[in-house]
Amino acid sequence: MNIHEYQAKELLAKYGVPVQPGGVAYTAAEAAEVAQRLGGKLWAVKAQIHAGGRGKAGGVKLVRSPEEARTAAAGMLGRRLVTHQTGPEGRDVKRVYVEAASDIARELYLALSVDRTSGRTTLIAAAEGGVEIEELAARAPEKILQLAIDPATGIEPFHGRRLAFELGLGSAEVKAMVALVGGLARAFEDLDASLIELNPLVLTGAGGLVALDAKMGFDDNALFRHPEIEALRDEDEEDPIEREGQKNSLSYVKLDGNIGCMVNGAGLAMATMDIIKLYGGSPANFLDVGGGATRERVTAAFKLILSEPNVEAILVNIFGGIARCDVIAEGVVAAAREVNLHVPLVVRLEGTNVELGRKILSQSGLPIIAAQDFADAAQKVVASIKEAT
Ligand code: GDP
Ligand code: MG
Repeated sequence: MNIHEYQAKELLAKYGVPVQPGGVAYTAAEAAEVAQRLGGKLWAVKAQIHAGGRGKAGGVKLVRSPEEARTAAAGMLGRRLVTHQTGPEGRDVKRVYVEAASDIARELYLALSVDRTSGRTTLIAAAEGGVEIEELAARAPEKILQLAIDPATGIEPFHGRRLAFELGLGSAEVKAMVALVGGLARAFEDLDASLIELNPLVLTGAGGLVALDAKMGFDDNALFRHPEIEALRDEDEEDPIEREGQKNSLSYVKLDGNIGCMVNGAGLAMATMDIIKLYGGSPANFLDVGGGATRERVTAAFKLILSEPNVEAILVNIFGGIARCDVIAEGVVAAAREVNLHVPLVVRLEGTNVELGRKILSQSGLPIIAAQDFADAAQKVVASIKEAT
């Protein structure tokens, strides 16, 4: 789960990470009020969406009066912001963050995430941070520093000192960097984060460090331990169908093809998508109904698949180990009736009670296309679309 910049800054401030004072606003009038309340002469008005690249897309504006803050907010709120990270569909801006502007001398990049190769929480830093970081990663990846944190000792002062040195900071900033890196690492661990990214982390004209932008992502499997983080969820930023899947304990990821897949087990689900591709088709989703698939879950899964308008055929691929094929077959038949199935349905069943399962399908009177094995199923579902068009 991801959260907004202003929420990440609020959390990180509690860990001693330096941020500018600011406030969130849902209307243009509120944005002007926040600027007024903060005081000062220069503010940044920033669109809050779960995507970066806002600066280049007009989602970050510097303003010189509360009146200008109102105008800038009015130009963002209720509009769709398209950045290189949102995809062409963009995101609706429903809140803006108004904060005291910073006087920037240098823009650095600093992040924490888990390096899957070493299995360690790793600091990632670059001396050339800011809106061109993707370009730097492509042009000069060697300029991106990585520093792993040993889980036995945790974060230590040398991590911050090493980064300060490598990023070319002056001796006056070393202490601030050590404190900042320490705070980030504690926040990362305490909150079960999967990513903390400060881009840019700025060195101000006066010589201090300030997190100018902040992005945080969390491990979904640990969210039950953090109701205060779960409360920051913004459903507007999440795919409604994936959300519905989570509510039914289904692991669903939307893709852009036209063959809906219902599979038990993540490995089999991946293999199913691969084999569909192999036979020239394109999966509309990844969907793992889980080991203990019940009739209710199968029905919920069917509804999810069919709620995607681009689905032109469905492939059900079930290996009944813990799940029994007869239960799955009953679920498929009940769901197909309930949702008034209007696209070809190919079913491949194997495993416990498979004979009974196949019998239930064939006696259902529904136009279900039975498949013998995995390859047969993929070929039949691809062919069913070709026939229909
Ligand atoms: P992103 O484009 O979505 O990553 O948004 P950022 O929060 O990183 O802002 C993009 C850029 O806007 C930064 O790299 C800065 O150059 C600029 N910017 C943001 N806030 C301020 C500010 O307070 N003062 C100044 N001078 N520039 C800012
Ligand atoms: Mg940024």
